[in-house]
Amino acid sequence: MDWLTPTPQGLYCAPGDFYIDPVVPVPRAVITHGHSDHARPFHEHVIATPETLAIMELRMGADRAGTVRQALPYRVAITVGDVSLWLAPAGHVLGSAQVVMDYRGRRAVVSGDYKRAPDATCAPFELVPCDLFVTEATFALPVFRHPDPLHEIARLLGNVALFPERTHVIGCYALGKAQRVISLLRQGGYDAPLWLHGALLPMCALYAQFGVELGPLCPATVARKDELRGGIVLAPPSAIADRWARRLPDPVVCLASGWMQVRQRAKARGVELPLIVSDHADWDELLQTCADVGAPEIWVTHGREDALIHVLTQRGLRARALRLIGYGDEETEDAGPAEVPA
Ligand SMILES: [Zn+2]
Ligand SMILES: [Zn+2]
Repeated sequence: MDWLTPTPQGLYCAPGDFYIDPVVPVPRAVITHGHSDHARPFHEHVIATPETLAIMELRMGADRAGTVRQALPYRVAITVGDVSLWLAPAGHVLGSAQVVMDYRGRRAVVSGDYKRAPDATCAPFELVPCDLFVTEATFALPVFRHPDPLHEIARLLGNVALFPERTHVIGCYALGKAQRVISLLRQGGYDAPLWLHGALLPMCALYAQFGVELGPLCPATVARKDELRGGIVLAPPSAIADRWARRLPDPVVCLASGWMQVRQRAKARGVELPLIVSDHADWDELLQTCADVGAPEIWVTHGREDALIHVLTQRGLRARALRLIGYGDEETEDAGPAEVPA
């Protein structure tokens, strides 16, 4: 497939003259989702789902979120240059999309970040058969098998019941993870108010605007110290280990991340109660998805590419590592610039 090319700026679609999630400002960008390593400021023309555009405006300010912002709802095909372009849900965070490109009878799909596990806070991943599939590989090692997140939440709620004098503070990044954890807590039967670090409030309000039910949320300010005892506080990962968290009554430090499967990571961050909750596909989901899309050619990007390429090659597929630079690991992402800690 010679019309999609990895470049230092990002994946470039020549017949459509656009980049996907470019890491530097470009004339035309298609953005898969709002995480800061995928959605960068100062592009001229931005094409993304309405949710992703709203997230970009919230995080970076409307003046930085693209001079021309073109909202493209899921499953609406448009023509860009000589390419037919549409977006399919990726199941990663609110508004997250796979980029589907049809050109001269061939279809390429760029997954962006994705997961197949159920998530009440965003549209579920949609399988799009294609000739070339570009997959993420954040958790592409056989050791990564994410448990049922409701089981993780049940463990947390068991601990909350066991230590009613202590405050459970959960580190979770502001876009996606916080809302997913809140939604899981509600599914787990927890309907008391949840206390939020100021950095998490604006994104939760945006999710609510898009119809995602999160239940009662209150700002966790110092004035409410006694009310917080026995409660659950959500904060960005950067806040759980600093003075902000130590001011809470007898805190139990928790962190919600796919990386919590690695015990050393939890230990290094001073996490007492690790919660394995991930918004990325695990090893099994990656392999399953690469099989399901039916593409003879798979490109693997940003993550542990080698193991996945090895297995895909063994299965007779043409697999290659893109080694695109500039994509990070938002599972432990800290508050973005628009989210000033309270
Ligand atoms: Zn992401
Ligand atoms: Zn990513």
